[in-house]
Amino acid sequence: MTDDDRDAAVGVVGAGITGLSLAHHLDRAGVDHVVFEATDEPGGVVRSGRVDGALLEWGPQRLRRTDPIDELIDDLDLGDEVIEAGDTEMFVYAEGSLGRAPFSLEAFAETDLLSEESKLRVVNEPSTDPGRPDETAAELFTRKFGEEAYRNLLGPLFGGIYGSDPEEMPVRHALSGLLGVEEKYGSLLAPAVKRAMQGGASAPAISFRDGAQRLPAALYDAHSERVHLETPVEAIRAREGGGYAVERADGETVAVDDVVVTTPADVTADLLAGLAPDAADALAELRYNPLAMVHLLADCDREGFGYQVRHDEDLDTLGVSWNASMFDRRGPDDRGVYTVFLGGMKKPELLEEDESTLGAIAAEEFEQVIDAAAEVLSVEKLDRGFPAYDGSWDAIEDLSTPDGVHLATNYTARMGVPSRVREAKRLAETLSN
Ligand SMILES: Cc1cc2nc3c(=O)[nH]c(=O)nc-3n(C[C@H](O)[C@H](O)[C@H](O)COP(=O)(O)OP(=O)(O)OC[C@H]3O[C@@H](n4cnc5c(N)ncnc54)[C@H](O)[C@@H]3O)c2cc1C
Repeated sequence: MTDDDRDAAVGVVGAGITGLSLAHHLDRAGVDHVVFEATDEPGGVVRSGRVDGALLEWGPQRLRRTDPIDELIDDLDLGDEVIEAGDTEMFVYAEGSLGRAPFSLEAFAETDLLSEESKLRVVNEPSTDPGRPDETAAELFTRKFGEEAYRNLLGPLFGGIYGSDPEEMPVRHALSGLLGVEEKYGSLLAPAVKRAMQGGASAPAISFRDGAQRLPAALYDAHSERVHLETPVEAIRAREGGGYAVERADGETVAVDDVVVTTPADVTADLLAGLAPDAADALAELRYNPLAMVHLLADCDREGFGYQVRHDEDLDTLGVSWNASMFDRRGPDDRGVYTVFLGGMKKPELLEEDESTLGAIAAEEFEQVIDAAAEVLSVEKLDRGFPAYDGSWDAIEDLSTPDGVHLATNYTARMGVPSRVREAKRLAETLSN
């Protein structure tokens, strides 16, 4: 296809953080592109807003300020709007109380989440056999660190990130990166101890004064000429003579050389059904964990990121983010904001409950754990919450798409925002060559 025959070199479907970061890096590389977004706002899953004066997050509660995020902050001149999380402690609710998760050697010695015997078992990890792609995350953690460390610590902390059950998460989908770390260091504990000795240092946890959505909003502002909101795409088809036609719901067709699809798996399956039926069938298999998010206002002074709940505790709560402590998020009466996650793989049917029931469950269980009265501010259901990274991910192990059709989102690499931005940057480099 010649330049005259097409409307843009690259067409991007979706203006979530992946699509917008891609637009940013394509722009820097001088690649002509156009982005289509179905809704009337940029950000996709990254969504912030005010309810009764309190700033709430319906997506990421915090971002890690890794190099790709830092680069965007610099490029967009957002440095003055960044806020860093205060106390970074994380807790686990196990056997009826909150225990501090140990991210330093001192905390490891002191934590009551692990018995002395269990601590010895953890320290023994370097002598265990290496992790295997075909075992589950639960099997790997139990085999290497012992039953108690899995139940009280690694299971809740790891499974909690995805609202998944580690017993359903094959290592090849959920922890493949960790196997690489193990191969490099000869153990999983060695890099963790090294990090703990450096004070538990990982990239700082941040947000923005106006919430996490400030990042995609600033990306949109910088590239709005090329980003079309309220423009859903219905299909992608091959064009005679090469390249692709991006078919918009308003009847317009846009001709591009390459197309990048950043939409959730079921949407991508629909878009590719005619063009790549095998890929579409595989993508349609992928499971996401449904979530309910309940924002509470409460008068308490807990310090830290929040807590995850051990899988077999008799609670519907999966975990709670302490937005009040992390970023001083408060209501007008100074009560703190807390975000409760319910449902997930543990109890997907909970999403069938009405909003007032979900709010009541969240508030009641919060009061039980924290011992502070809570008022419900907002209840939101996400049918498609976190990617489950369970056995359904087998479907895309051999996924292939036609040349020039690229997929980039949380089923092609990790789901965290830093990973999304990193993947977008790499893809922009590929597309600019
Ligand atoms: C509740 C929750 C909490 C999270 N917490 C964290 C966290 O604390 N830290 C962290 O780093 N990560 C977190 N994540 C993960 C991270 O937010 C997501 O993986 C990431 O934002 C996904 O971005 P994306 O652009 O790849 O996809 P999406 O955000 O899904 O973007 C896809 C876009 O495509 C659009 N679209 C859909 N259909 C069409 C169509 N037909 N035509 C055009 N456009 C279409 C959608 O409207 C959307 O804007 C969280 C995720 C969730 C759900």
